[in-house]
Formats: sequence, structure tokens, C-alpha cells
Amino acid sequence: MIVDLHAHTLASDGTDTPAQLVEEADAAGIDVVAITDHDTTAGWDEAIDAATRLGVGLLPGIEISCSWRGISVHLLGYLHDPRHPELLAELDAARESRDPRARRIVDRLAVDMPITWEDVSAQVVEGATIGRPHIADALVENGVVPDRTAAFDRYLYTGSPYYATHYAPDPVEATRLVRAAGGVPVMAHPFAERRGRIVPDEVIADMADAGLFALEGDHPDHDDAQRDKAHGLARDLGLHVTGSSDYHGDGKPQRLGARATDPAVLDAMLAEPTHRGIVRP
Ligand code: AMP
Ligand code: FE
Ligand code: FE
Ligand code: ZN
Repeated sequence: MIVDLHAHTLASDGTDTPAQLVEEADAAGIDVVAITDHDTTAGWDEAIDAATRLGVGLLPGIEISCSWRGISVHLLGYLHDPRHPELLAELDAARESRDPRARRIVDRLAVDMPITWEDVSAQVVEGATIGRPHIADALVENGVVPDRTAAFDRYLYTGSPYYATHYAPDPVEATRLVRAAGGVPVMAHPFAERRGRIVPDEVIADMADAGLFALEGDHPDHDDAQRDKAHGLARDLGLHVTGSSDYHGDGKPQRLGARATDPAVLDAMLAEPTHRGIVRP
């Protein structure tokens, strides 16, 4: 039984449609996949339809971009009510501020290289959560860089002179909100220092107090030491550990199922009180 609890689609910065994600999971022999687009649940309906049709297990989820004292934290949420007013208000505020933020980054890049706002808009599906990967795709399209990875390494990394921030909720508050919305909160890639600065353990302890279920210990951006650290801290805080690929289609090298979650941890998650259920395989 292969359980992969973190994947993106064209509703944010993945390159598959939600139906294609489920088809891909089916073809790859994944038993349960979660759709976890950044700050949106716009892909849920299409993914649920495809999963029901193909007999693939599907967890509807989200990856919420949070910020603690300027440090980025990603919070996964599963099986929550996508219409919970307080949570929705935070997500809307974050998504709305992503637009001017992306324009700011493009304005800065445009001083030094060929890129326009129109080039970036052309990379984003209507209504999707816009992010740096779409700017990367425009740079690829314009021949500035060969792929997303190079775009991030050269121009789009956090702290680059071209970088700008957007509004993002506090991770402890977001953890509380996911629970309030009937969801199960899991901290994504907690020790992935290659992505930028990470929060101190005390913040993770506060998230645990606010209802955190697990740490995503097994992730392509974790080395062995960081994975072990996640397992150790999870043990100390009484949390579970999940594993996931963070699949982005062609946007990142890792394939679905590159990391996986122990089926017993999925069972524990499904035993939590939640707003909605899994689409059963
Ligand atoms: P944003 O939410 O706009 O700040 O962009 C963050 C997203 O960029 C992450 O969710 C990743 O999917 C993507 N990303 C970060 N680093 C890289 C990289 N080196 N290569 C490809 N995608 C990346
Ligand atoms: Fe992403
Ligand atoms: Fe993430
Ligand atoms: Zn992700």
C-alpha cells in the first residue's frame, strides 16, 4: 500500500490537471494520493471525480503558506471544510497579496532580463494560486534559463535581490484554523534548510499545542539527518510522521511515491475527527 500525502496541480504550481494527477497516481500504482495545492482547494472537485472513476484513494487537502517572523512555513491540511469562513478569509488574503507580489518580482527582474507580466500571466491557469514557479516558467519560455530549478538557483531563491514577500498567516494560528475547519494539520518539510531559513523547535512545539497531527519527516528536500531530526522531535512532541513526494508534475524532478507515508499513520489520521472523508481506493 503506497500513500503519498503531498502533490500539486495546475490549481497552483504543479503541471498536471487535477484529473491527470489522479491518473498519474493510478498508473504509478499509488493507492492513496493527496491533492495539496498552495492556498487553494480549487482542484478538489475534479480530483474527487477522477478518483471515484478510477478507484484511486484521494485525500482532499491544501498547503497553506505561512510566515513566522519572515521565515516561511508550509502547513498541510487534510479533509477540512473548504468553506470555513475564518480559514477562507486568511487564504483569500494570502492569494490576493500574491498578485502584487509577483508583479513586484517581475518588475525587478525586468530591469535585467527579458520578462513581462504578460509572459508570467500566460503561465497561470485562470484562478490558480500564482507563485514564483510561474515566473520561473516564463523565464524558461523566454530562454533565460533551462528549467525551474535554474530559475530558482539564479534569480528566485528566497532572499535574492529580486525576491519579494506576500501576506501569509502565522503558522500557529493556521494550525488552529485547520482544526477549527475540521481538518488535520501537518507541518510540511519542517527542516528543509535548502529552501531557506527554518523556524526554531519552540514554534513547532506551539503548533503541536495548537493541534498539529504530524511532521512531514520524509520529504525530498530533507537529507537523512533532517529526516532523523523530524522523527526525534515528533517523538518528543507526541506527533506522527508522514512522508510525501511533494510532486509538482514536470515542475520538479521527484515522481509520485518518491516518499511515502506508513499506512498505519494514514489510519490514525482517518481516526481523527474531520469535516469530510477520504475517497476510498
Ligand atoms: P512561492 O509560494 O511563490 O513563494 O513559491 C514557492 C514554491 O516554489 C514552492 O512551493 C516550490 O514548489 C517552488 N520551488 C521552490 N524552490 C524551487 C526549486 N529550486 N525548483 C523548483 N521549484 C521550486
Ligand atoms: Fe510548490
Ligand atoms: Fe511546501
Ligand atoms: Zn508542496
